[in-house]
Amino acid sequence: MTSAPPEHETPMLHPELRTDGDPDAIVRRGRRLDHAEGTSKPLKSRREPQPRGAKVHGNRPIDQAEAAARFIAAPEHEKMHDERLWDLRQKRDREMQAIPEWEELRSLAAAIKEHTLTHLDDYLEEFETNAQSNGIHVHWARDAAEHNRVVHEILRDHGAKSLIKSKSMLTEECGFRHYMASVGIEVIETDLGERIQQLDHEDPSHVVVPAVHKLRTDVAAVFARTLGTDPENSDVHYLAEAQREATRPLILQADAGMTGCNFAVAETGGFVVCTNEGNADLSANVPKLHIAAIGIEKIIPRLEHLAVFVRLLSRSALGSPITQYTSHFRGPRAGGELHVVLVDNGRSKRLGMAEFWTSLKCIRCGACMNTCPVYRRSGGLSYGATYSGPIGLIIDPTFNARKYSNLPFASTLNGSCSNVCPVKINIHQQIYAWRRELVNLHEVPLVKKVAMKAAGELLSRPAAYRAAIAAGDAALAHLPRFVIYSGLNAWGRHREMPHPPKQTFHDWYKANRAEKP
Ligand code: SF4
Repeated sequence: MTSAPPEHETPMLHPELRTDGDPDAIVRRGRRLDHAEGTSKPLKSRREPQPRGAKVHGNRPIDQAEAAARFIAAPEHEKMHDERLWDLRQKRDREMQAIPEWEELRSLAAAIKEHTLTHLDDYLEEFETNAQSNGIHVHWARDAAEHNRVVHEILRDHGAKSLIKSKSMLTEECGFRHYMASVGIEVIETDLGERIQQLDHEDPSHVVVPAVHKLRTDVAAVFARTLGTDPENSDVHYLAEAQREATRPLILQADAGMTGCNFAVAETGGFVVCTNEGNADLSANVPKLHIAAIGIEKIIPRLEHLAVFVRLLSRSALGSPITQYTSHFRGPRAGGELHVVLVDNGRSKRLGMAEFWTSLKCIRCGACMNTCPVYRRSGGLSYGATYSGPIGLIIDPTFNARKYSNLPFASTLNGSCSNVCPVKINIHQQIYAWRRELVNLHEVPLVKKVAMKAAGELLSRPAAYRAAIAAGDAALAHLPRFVIYSGLNAWGRHREMPHPPKQTFHDWYKANRAEKP
């Protein structure tokens, strides 16, 4: 049932939503309904409960498989998630095919990133000098705690109590929102997907589309609970409009704004933020104080290099030729202040890791997630980490090898992630390398270690291997079903076991091809 919000809860209206005598306006209780809300149709559908993410217990290894199983057990969510992301992958392919020099662009992007990363100290200093001469205050943060403290100090010095923020994976990495809540500063996410996640007390599940794991009925339920919308109306325009109406006043009143950064240009001391909703521009331009959190790997040397990345980013991410807003920030707005915080948080350490340093080339496009069969069917929150999908598998263990020790095993190693990566990161090879590394670090569960050792022994002894195959075939042919599909057989939980062949290839070869004595 629709229930009208009490009068005192009616959101303040942005000027564009006032009727101002417009005869065509659709008005309800003196309030103009914008195009979307005025024409939206209540959509009723049976609600499948939203599967929640991985259970996180301190430093204990995340059980991604357990959370993935719960996601798969919600068929509407799994189907929608798989289809939506595969659609992005197909759009990406169409855009890629329309650019004959696509592979050249990828090689160029990879080379620029590799060059920059191997001269990172020089380019960071160049960026700092140029940014300062543009009137930007530059801060450095060794880790997440320092980043949060630096931003807090800037806000405190300005007496800021509220902050509007556009999407930034770096701030997620730093646990920024939780920290700000602990010091009494209100953070309002301005990206629609990110705001949905904030209102639902969930982390983003994808680096580009943070709420992609939610059905629109899930969003309707979140907004009904938090914004007082009609729980039965899951029309996307209605929901977007409701969030816009509720958030605009908060944006207009905020004391400070915060953005992330897609690319920081050493040559100019400026940086670029790419969004599709224009929310970074609101965060940067409405309040007088703008703070940008920049991971040190976001540096590129020259402005001309930007064209390479801008052409690749949106095509790889969403299959669109360009993001709606590619906003350049070169200095503070008139009468305002601009601060950038250059954050390391483990990046220098990763740069020194021979097999994993190239993961720093990542431009967070999400293409590897969209193509990954495991990610598409298990949802980003099943990884229990800031970064999910293939890129998460190679970045997360650099933060905490124990906690994320299961993640590199959540991959089929099919290599599709590496094939779509616009900066040519050898993702699947790094996933495989992490498996070896985790064994060396003794971060692989004992059961898996023993099983792998036993498999290794078996595979290295042909006679024992053939005997085991023969025994397995005999068991499959003669044992009753309830024994074969017992709880010990993880493979059989979701699949039928293969029928044992009458003759193994080895027996056939011996009978037909092997040289007779
Ligand atoms: S690893 Fe490559 S494909 Fe994946 S998010 Fe980063 S840049 Fe995109």
